[in-house]
Amino acid sequence: MSIRLLGLALAALVAAGAEQVRDFAPKVLEGHVSFLASDALEGRDTPSKGLEIAAEYVASQFRANGLEMPEGSQSYFQVANWKYRTIPASRVSFGFTMGDKSFAYTGERFSIQTLEVSQAAEAPVFKATLEDGDKLKAMADEALAGKVVLLFVPTAAEQRAMDETPRFTMRRQYTEVSEQIKRLTPVAWMTLVNGTRGAGVRGQLIDPSRERGGGRGRSRFSQPPALYSSEMRELLAPLPFGDVVGATASVRIPEADVEPVELKNVIGVVPGSDPVLKDSYVVVTAHYDHIGRGAADGGGDTIFNGANDDASGTATLLEMAAATARKNPRPKRTIVFLAVFGEEKGLLGTQFYTRHPVYPLAKTIANINLEHLGRTDDEDGPQVGRVTATGFDYSDIPTLFGDAAKAVGVEFYKHEQKSDSFFGRSDNVAFAKVGIPAHTFCVAFEFGDYHGLGDHWEKLDYANMAKVSEALAAGVWLLADRETPPKWNETVSSTETYRKAAASAQ
Ligand SMILES: [Zn+2]
Repeated sequence: MSIRLLGLALAALVAAGAEQVRDFAPKVLEGHVSFLASDALEGRDTPSKGLEIAAEYVASQFRANGLEMPEGSQSYFQVANWKYRTIPASRVSFGFTMGDKSFAYTGERFSIQTLEVSQAAEAPVFKATLEDGDKLKAMADEALAGKVVLLFVPTAAEQRAMDETPRFTMRRQYTEVSEQIKRLTPVAWMTLVNGTRGAGVRGQLIDPSRERGGGRGRSRFSQPPALYSSEMRELLAPLPFGDVVGATASVRIPEADVEPVELKNVIGVVPGSDPVLKDSYVVVTAHYDHIGRGAADGGGDTIFNGANDDASGTATLLEMAAATARKNPRPKRTIVFLAVFGEEKGLLGTQFYTRHPVYPLAKTIANINLEHLGRTDDEDGPQVGRVTATGFDYSDIPTLFGDAAKAVGVEFYKHEQKSDSFFGRSDNVAFAKVGIPAHTFCVAFEFGDYHGLGDHWEKLDYANMAKVSEALAAGVWLLADRETPPKWNETVSSTETYRKAAASAQ
């Protein structure tokens, strides 16, 4: 076939692909995002009740639109039976007395990341700030034995508002001061933050099949609890570095409980139409989790709604699944729509899938991952009518998506810096690591409310999102309908690990 003929055939195919899926309604996308990112789902932390509700919502949409369940399965869920290690907030307590002042707090005043046992009863109190690194350095080893250290630090919001240089200095000071405090072996230490409400206790997820034997090698107080108390900050602020004369503190952070937890990937399938190619797969992913709740901002908001990250990708996945399932004929290959848990906790859902693949990985030709599709106010400037991919030159998939985007009037472009640096930052990488060509498609890489309390559904541009979703759906269609599977680009050295993984999977 001549190049010109090939071009014509491709254009026709693109037009057909685009035609097949030209039905993304902005209002429907807005409906999905506004539910998933509502306060009722409390930021969809992994694990949480909000995450379970989101999983049921995704499954209900698959059901409503006639998606098939994975072969041999009685539900849309792929369940990970894991364990969760946490401390009930009510069992964490802190008491402080100084003269006629006394305060008593439980867990919701804290943000606790590391589940270290910590106990002290009416122990002397020692105050330090981030500026006190040198003074701490001058103290003898174990000089704080038996004492409770309170370290003044800025709130997360104050840290975010800082310019880069002071923020960098602050982080360096924090590391130095923390190391010194550990060397001085207090009975307990915590950071003291302005505010009246912390994020509570963060538990730890454990995959029992990957639990290592023997000691867990955790260092004592690897991340201290943060106590939110404006009252104590105010009381102690005028006092100098060192012993807080006449004050005592009692601390109780008990041993964590371990309980079983069910985490769910949600899978809806559109079977391929070709008798042979239907046994090969394109996997479309989006993470339906986000980061849950945090310490309150000035306005009392504590919920990280995660509208753009990644209710937007999830909404597009749902509508792409619905549009594809409605059509006849369907693309030649089978499309697996996979909404995953735990991306924000370290790509847990996609890694679980690639360790326990529902469809053979050797027959999975590509992964298309959807992120940040609703916000056009990228930190690099407005991104209306355009979409991009990470690892732009890593495989021939982006070229195909470029053709598809063009056919529906969307610009498909490469971001010179972020295209490569963001490749490893989302769920596509779990597939890349097992050799499958995989990219994340997004409108904005970073936006003002990224991982902030203000990532609200009202801020998304749904008309633009519908247009971009159409372009991506056309790309997925082309990919699934094409005879030739995509390949990693051999001339790009960054793809070497992925090419090796692909070769060893053969
Ligand atoms: Zn995300």
